[in-house]
Amino acid sequence: MQPEFTIALAGNPNSGKTTMFNALTGARQHVGNYPGVTVTKKEGVVNSQGKSVKIVDLPGTYSLTPYSEEELAARSFVVDEKPHAVIDIVDANTLERSLYLTVQFLELGVPVVVALNMMDEVRRRKIRLDSARLADLLNVPVIETVAREGEGKQEMLKEAIEFAQQNKGSELNPVRISYGEDIDKALDEMEQKILAARFMTDRLPARWIALKYIEGDEEVLARGRKADALSMELEATSHKLAKHVRTTLDTSPEALIADHRYGFISSILRQGVVKKDVTQERINFSDRLDKVLTNTFLGPLIMLGVIYGMFQLTFAVGEIPMGWVEEFFGWLNASVTAAMPDGLLRSLITSGIIDGVGGVLGFVPLILVMFFCLSFLEDFGYMARMAYMLDRVFKMFGLHGSSVMPFIISGGIPGGCAVPGVMAARTLRSPREKLATILTAPYLSCGAKVPVFVLLAAAFFPQYGADVLMLITLGGWAMALIVARVLRSTVIKGEPTPFVMELPPYRIPLFRGVLIHTWERGWQYIKKAGTVILAISILLWAAMTFPGLPENQAQQFEQQRVQISQTIDEVKAADANPEALANLEDKLAQVDNLEAEATLKNSAAGRAGTALESLSSLAGFDWRTNIALVGGFAAKEVIVSTLGTAFSLGEVDPEAADSLSARLAADPAFTVWSAISLIIFTLLYAPCFVTVVVIAKEAGWKWAAFSVGFNTVLAFSLATLVYQVGSSL
Ligand code: GDP
Ligand code: MG
Repeated sequence: MQPEFTIALAGNPNSGKTTMFNALTGARQHVGNYPGVTVTKKEGVVNSQGKSVKIVDLPGTYSLTPYSEEELAARSFVVDEKPHAVIDIVDANTLERSLYLTVQFLELGVPVVVALNMMDEVRRRKIRLDSARLADLLNVPVIETVAREGEGKQEMLKEAIEFAQQNKGSELNPVRISYGEDIDKALDEMEQKILAARFMTDRLPARWIALKYIEGDEEVLARGRKADALSMELEATSHKLAKHVRTTLDTSPEALIADHRYGFISSILRQGVVKKDVTQERINFSDRLDKVLTNTFLGPLIMLGVIYGMFQLTFAVGEIPMGWVEEFFGWLNASVTAAMPDGLLRSLITSGIIDGVGGVLGFVPLILVMFFCLSFLEDFGYMARMAYMLDRVFKMFGLHGSSVMPFIISGGIPGGCAVPGVMAARTLRSPREKLATILTAPYLSCGAKVPVFVLLAAAFFPQYGADVLMLITLGGWAMALIVARVLRSTVIKGEPTPFVMELPPYRIPLFRGVLIHTWERGWQYIKKAGTVILAISILLWAAMTFPGLPENQAQQFEQQRVQISQTIDEVKAADANPEALANLEDKLAQVDNLEAEATLKNSAAGRAGTALESLSSLAGFDWRTNIALVGGFAAKEVIVSTLGTAFSLGEVDPEAADSLSARLAADPAFTVWSAISLIIFTLLYAPCFVTVVVIAKEAGWKWAAFSVGFNTVLAFSLATLVYQVGSSL
């Protein structure tokens, strides 16, 4: 059955919409303490009063003049889908600011039920709110709620349904606020014209349209231009008004409108809505905590400590389950190898599927621990403080304080992943800062690059593993910031967005909430392993296996094997010393390795690697490294496993990584400088395929292609420079 009513939950970010949505629908949902977490629309159906009602959780928004994609999405839903009622979830702690949105709903003429949420905190702070008085003054139902406890939800829903029933089909009378003489005059004039021409009035109140023209709302303007030539006239009137306001009051109509809306609100609140208890604590807990945590000197120190602690915890705790996962895949591989006859199918399953997917899943425990820490900090309210403190620094690089989250998730603390990192950039409000963040987040040391660094460090800087990793991590940050600065002064030029993120009060996170949050992030990563990486592992396996060795070469290897096997039999029969026997067995293994290497060189991937050698040798990479790097575009995890194959070791498990690094150190193709060059290239070159797809989804294919081309050229130039200069020393 189609739900009879649609009711939307709207409100500022962090007002408790999602919590309320969960309380109503019982569905599992994202709960966050970070402004703008709710990016996508979520729906659920409930039955109440014998009616079936569709509930929609809208993205958080401060204003109906959209500044971000989320805000635009929220407004479009209210304007275009016309829900039967809107429940405006208001954080009662910040009543004045929250009502800013409420007032705009009233101006738009949508049926609104106000939910005064977080009343538990208000009561604790000993502030008295008179919700009946507020309902009188606003002329809409006002219900006190505590979304976390489900308090008030039934009454709120009941009011909304009643409201929806009364208003089915008919329009409400929009609230009319006075914006001062100048604007009011222009508004009236425009309203008359709009009504006369029936300009978009089928879905919007005339005065609201006029207001949006004065505010210069891009989206409404674009619609208007398509709708009627009247648009030109309205734009001309608004321009004239803007000029007039500028000369007479030295401000913009937008600012005036905001001032008057706040004035409207504060006059309402002053009429007996808010009463503070005299014994109210002057500085509440959050304020006192912020005195320390965001202190000019202590704040950054504490922040570094928190990041460092998270780093330590992630590795100390994450390593244990990581070992289990690795053991499991090692066991799986061995079992399959033992159970199946040698051949292409076995090779496909073990090398193509188990190794490929196992390599990615091996990082899952580490990532879950890290995401657990991040979710905790976010729900606690600390992430917002980090963004706030870092904004000063990030602004210098053309970024925004909120860029810190995408950076950290992408691998700002080694072990992240750019896929959820790029997605996390959705919360950035300004499109330019968002784009710069998306394009530079892939420079950080994601969990798939770390094994490459560990391998090379073990081979060439055996004493300094941790220091090398630390340097690389800092290098990733430095490159991300520098390149962001460059991009923001060239291809993504534009003014910075002023920092508008507020600091929500600290809250002790719900353990369950943190777990759900952690799982949702981890799941994105696991999905990547299950789908794209599986497909790509198989493709790569094919590219590295076919067309196989020519008949005569394969025979040569076979002959050698037969010969050695014969000798072994003879030695055994002669009961000679065990050392000679072991020697021979080593030789036999060596033949297998040589054959694997020859097969690889002859394969499609090997030929590509060889063809690239003339160019790549500038940076010190030979054909084997090339294959690994080309494979790394599919998924960076592939680099180490491919190096393993290419350097004649068959498969590489972490225990064998030591021997692979010994191999690399001994190989004449590798020097200290080519290792450094390879580290630089791996850190900076094209993001992996999955990240590219996500970038395309967030910013379009043009920018996705840009990041592949630009990053690869940048990485190659730097690697070449370092290799050439270093080698000539
Ligand atoms: P949204 O951004 O509007 O969807 O807000 P969320 O539902 O994610 O809630 C933000 C934070 O406020 C979460 O930490 C919730 O647990 C918390 N929260 C929600 N409602 C209440 C409430 O009524 N009282 C208290 N104390 N906390 C609440
Ligand atoms: Mg939400």
